[in-house]
Amino acid sequence: MEKLRNGAGIHSSFLGSRGDYLSADVVMVGAPMDFTVSFRPGSRMGPGIIRGMSGVLETYSPYVRGDIGDIALFDHGDLELSFGNAKRSLEVIYGAAAEIFGDGKLPVFLGGEHLISLPVIRAAFEKYGDQLLLFHFDAHTDLREEYMGEGLSHATVIRRCMDFVKGQNIYQFGIRSGLKEEFTLGETSTNFYPFKVVEPLQNISKTTGDRPIYVTLDIDVVDPAYAPGTGTPEPGGCTSAEILRAVHLLGGCNIIGMDIVEVMGFGDPAGITGVLAAKIIREALIGIAMGSRREEG
Ligand code: MN
Ligand code: MN
Repeated sequence: MEKLRNGAGIHSSFLGSRGDYLSADVVMVGAPMDFTVSFRPGSRMGPGIIRGMSGVLETYSPYVRGDIGDIALFDHGDLELSFGNAKRSLEVIYGAAAEIFGDGKLPVFLGGEHLISLPVIRAAFEKYGDQLLLFHFDAHTDLREEYMGEGLSHATVIRRCMDFVKGQNIYQFGIRSGLKEEFTLGETSTNFYPFKVVEPLQNISKTTGDRPIYVTLDIDVVDPAYAPGTGTPEPGGCTSAEILRAVHLLGGCNIIGMDIVEVMGFGDPAGITGVLAAKIIREALIGIAMGSRREEG
């Protein structure tokens, strides 16, 4: 029993990560909330699915030749959210994000529905102000003013971010679904790159310099053939290889936080969506760590 008490099981934390909050550079937090989703619920199971399927992966990345075991990563586990109470839950998520940013660590939030990103991005904005860039990967614009009369929804999350982050500081990649008004708003107000993820980033990733970037990645940006386990699947997306390529292009940028949202188990008996999400996080974290080491060296 001593063994059981001393540590978590091998795959109950992300890629078997150990460590503690104080010494961590990267803090992973699950936000198991899916209270405002429009179609299929189930993304509240996302954090557990991503952690569980991460056990399939090696800690070593042959793409960027680094090992996640060399990163001081602490997996905090899931936040306790008030079930069914979106506003209270968002306050809890904000509190966690503000603490992590305040302590100079890089947060990785696991959704949950996309609305969980809003309080995290707010906390990032309060730290970095107008220096902050927001990179949004999604099949959907998420630019609705409201959805079914509700201003706080996974379909409005980027519109709500525009209440404080200037449109010129928002970059949207892979978008292929939304209302005409949403597309018009994106085309006129944000840096709007529909349908593609790799090509636009090849140029943009070279121009952001030291600007702090928060990355919010809705797994449905990837084609449902590669990521079927999501609430609102949208055909015509990028491949899993392309999203990994996009993540690798971010390696030289100053990423200060990220989230991956809308992963769920429903419709994905093979678990490929969870393992893709886990691999995206592995590649992102190793790429970020090696990028900052290159700068120091
Ligand atoms: Mn989406
Ligand atoms: Mn979304």
